Amino acid sequence: MGDPSLGLPLLTSLHSHVSSQEATECPRGFSARTAFFFGIYRPDPLYPASDPKMSADPMTANAPITQDVVTIPRKDTPADGRLNLVGLTREGLREALISVGTPEKQAKMRVNQIWQWIYHWGVRDFDAMTNLAKAYRATLADNFVIAVPEVVSRQISDDGTRKYLVRIAGGHEVETVYIPEDERGTLCISSQVGCTLTCSFCHTGTQKLVRNLTPAEIVGQIMVARDDLGEWPERGVGSGETGPRLLSNIVLMGMGEPLYNFEAVRDAMQIAMDGEGIALSRRRITLSTSGVVPEIARTAEEIGCMLAVSFHATTDEVRDKLVPINKRWPIAELLEALKGYPKASNSERITFEYVMLKGVNDSDEDARQLVQLIKGIPAKINLIPFNEWPGAPYKRSDWARIRAFADIIYKAGYASPIRTPRGEDIMAACGQLKSATERARKSRAEIAAEAGLT
Ligand code: SAH
Ligand code: SF4
Repeated sequence: MGDPSLGLPLLTSLHSHVSSQEATECPRGFSARTAFFFGIYRPDPLYPASDPKMSADPMTANAPITQDVVTIPRKDTPADGRLNLVGLTREGLREALISVGTPEKQAKMRVNQIWQWIYHWGVRDFDAMTNLAKAYRATLADNFVIAVPEVVSRQISDDGTRKYLVRIAGGHEVETVYIPEDERGTLCISSQVGCTLTCSFCHTGTQKLVRNLTPAEIVGQIMVARDDLGEWPERGVGSGETGPRLLSNIVLMGMGEPLYNFEAVRDAMQIAMDGEGIALSRRRITLSTSGVVPEIARTAEEIGCMLAVSFHATTDEVRDKLVPINKRWPIAELLEALKGYPKASNSERITFEYVMLKGVNDSDEDARQLVQLIKGIPAKINLIPFNEWPGAPYKRSDWARIRAFADIIYKAGYASPIRTPRGEDIMAACGQLKSATERARKSRAEIAAEAGLT
């Protein structure tokens, strides 16, 4: 049962908000509906699915870092062979234009023009690009498309939260959630269908099918949300940081581990940050990682956005069970990597996400230990009341416990907002999504075994 002070028990997702102004957060509980199942599993040389070193330790042997998943090959080109211009970097767009006969000397100007049509004005039809000659528009239409994912369904909560189910190539579906607040609107986007990591409290981690999203599919989630919000600028109205901002912040906290899909996430965020298009400042983008240590410095250098880390535990023993990637990069290594982040990315502080699991990680001692661990790192701690889902091997901490935990952190000088649910009334449909993925999900026994709870 959920805590009455938090509203109804949430079965699938927690749509939440943080009271602090600058904090960025995301609803949780993304569930993929994966209609088709084809392709081959290609092990990633950097992150092999099983690591012999790991299974040597009986303490942690039962929780794999990555599970036995099927990774679906990606294809960005529609069936008719025309290339999708969405998701290409400026350089990629330049090459594409040259490949269809655009003179090199004109290429830079054409990139600027087309970029603005796509990302500033939200145009999807080459014919609307009125500053280009008719014949050139025809050449573009013969060779390219401007394609974004298709919105399969949209639900709007009483509190204004909007949840989109978007379909991407191959028939896969991911969720994107828009959370309006007084001073800003946050879009929570997905970077993968499912996730290869197996965090034992996370619903997404129980799905066996995984596919990396392409840059087009990542930036496309922003574009379809803007379509729906009617937020492409009108002539004479400012845009970017100066214009109306329903969609003012992005959090990469949907489905998937963004740092396991680094290049695509980077390219998509660079497009979102480009001043002549969507123009979101890097401080308004927060990437959440479970702790992929080798990619953290790269995130600072190549993206430079705000960073959130799914910390969730104060000892390696507990974190190994909650966030199994900890066995590969334990707390000390993670903290070391995090220390350098604010400076390298010129961002003020790191957000530590901490899910409150009853009797697992929520003691006063944990709170004190957490404060000790993060000493020296400019930080804020987001406390996330656990969002229960059927088969979940944990319970949400009691409200009083969460408050006591928050209090200790707050008194130690850190902001410690507690996320409260948003969009509860549209949660029901998540159950429908889940039932469709039931066959791709693990049993309660499997999840409990992997979490080391049996
Ligand atoms: N893979 C990335 C980003 C997606 S998860 C990551 O792990 O950071 C976004 C946040 O939701 C993470 O902090 C994650 O730990 C948290 N989360 C996952 N499942 C949850 C649940 N059932 N209840 C509450 N928070 C959850
Ligand atoms: Fe879930 Fe994030 Fe863990 Fe993946 S890395 S299983 S999305 S919490």
